[in-house]
Amino acid sequence: MKRTKKFILPETEIPTQWYNIVAEMKNKPLPMINPQTNEPLKAEDLFPLFAEELAKQELNDKDTWIDIPDEVREKYKIYRPTPLVRAYELEKALDTPAHIYFKNESVSPVGSHKLNSALAQAYYNKIEGVTNLTTETGAGQWGTALAFASKTFGLELAVYMVKISYEQKPYRRSLMQTWGAQVIASPSMSTKAGRKILTENPTYQGSLGTAISEAIELAMQTPKCKYALGSVLNHVALHQTVIGLEAEKQMEMADEYPDIVIGCFGGGSNFSGISFPFLRHNLKGETHTRFIAAEPSSCPKLTRGRFQYDFGDEAGYTPLIPMYTLHHKFAPANIHAGGLRYHGAGSIVSQLHKDNLIEAVDVNQLDTFKAGIQFARAEGIIPAPESNHAIAVAIHEALKAKEEGVKKTILFNLSGHGLLDMSAYDQYLAGDLSNHELKDEELNKYFEKES
Ligand SMILES: *Cc1c(COP(=O)(O)O)cnc(C)c1O
Repeated sequence: MKRTKKFILPETEIPTQWYNIVAEMKNKPLPMINPQTNEPLKAEDLFPLFAEELAKQELNDKDTWIDIPDEVREKYKIYRPTPLVRAYELEKALDTPAHIYFKNESVSPVGSHKLNSALAQAYYNKIEGVTNLTTETGAGQWGTALAFASKTFGLELAVYMVKISYEQKPYRRSLMQTWGAQVIASPSMSTKAGRKILTENPTYQGSLGTAISEAIELAMQTPKCKYALGSVLNHVALHQTVIGLEAEKQMEMADEYPDIVIGCFGGGSNFSGISFPFLRHNLKGETHTRFIAAEPSSCPKLTRGRFQYDFGDEAGYTPLIPMYTLHHKFAPANIHAGGLRYHGAGSIVSQLHKDNLIEAVDVNQLDTFKAGIQFARAEGIIPAPESNHAIAVAIHEALKAKEEGVKKTILFNLSGHGLLDMSAYDQYLAGDLSNHELKDEELNKYFEKES
């Protein structure tokens, strides 16, 4: 039997518009709050921090479709459309009746989906006269994406990189430097937020929340300098919808429609990207697809966090965001899926979860590596430790389908490759990795201090 393994779209099929799910949600996300005025946030409140067009996209709850600028679409052609792949070998290894598909975002030059938003953000900043950007990066994927995007559109970039990753992932730092960015380990002595943390706790290994505080502080104090964020915010989720929009066409080529869509979950951008274009049809009552966010059990904001207003960063510089959160002071364990070590979920996904329109499960570190290695041995690709969370859930669902003896169509997003994460694989293979059990006391401690 001749079978098609890869579904490849021509460049002409790169989407011309992003899909803004907020316009079609019955229960819109609660507004973000300006902590200075305690009023709902206005786009103007974000202008000092973000390019104006991005600030407007952030608060846009009217337009279902937003045009992708030609210049951005032109750059997408470097790696888009990305392939949709039927994982025949994995299906065989699992002996499952399920059909497993993955959208391969690891083929981008930076190795992950993050470039989809980085190119858009760099572009809007450039045309508004900005010369410098600041940002933070955890495992380094966002920093590398924005480094390449900044170089592409002629902007200078300073990246605050979480110290533990700066030390554990030196090659991501080299990538950023190769693309011309300046990289600073966070917490650093270069900002008030960094100095405060370092004086209180000199050996602190950093967190995304802290690095965000530092990057925002630098942007606010520097003329023609703005800040860019790689996840959590609505405009980032918006840009990532190119993933699902392409996948929708590719599933059609395969003559299938997913019963289950899975994405790993840090702040929610790749999960949103693969899910929202399909979720659209659930919202209209046309389909009953399940959407599963896969998060680490050591940073389980959707499965064990609280739904409330919280800051997006450790120091409290961001607007208050209505989110599932573990508290902005929560410091997640040093797991290898650095991109998932974030305390909160974006406001759109949080509202969708609250309304039971999406599901969430948490997976422990050892199970994610076991799944990632099973995938690698079948399909050849070494997945990012983050993506291993989605793979673990996909395998779990495929085995459940086998038990129940039903054919299910499963689609997951391969958010990135793990070729720069081999030290994590080394540790796993040597038996040196462990799970981080998170006790309720640990989860509750910051909330209790407040009340
Ligand atoms: C950053 C990152 C993630 C997590 O971020 P989201 O915004 O939740 O998508 C997942 N996978 C990879 C490869 C990443 O780089």
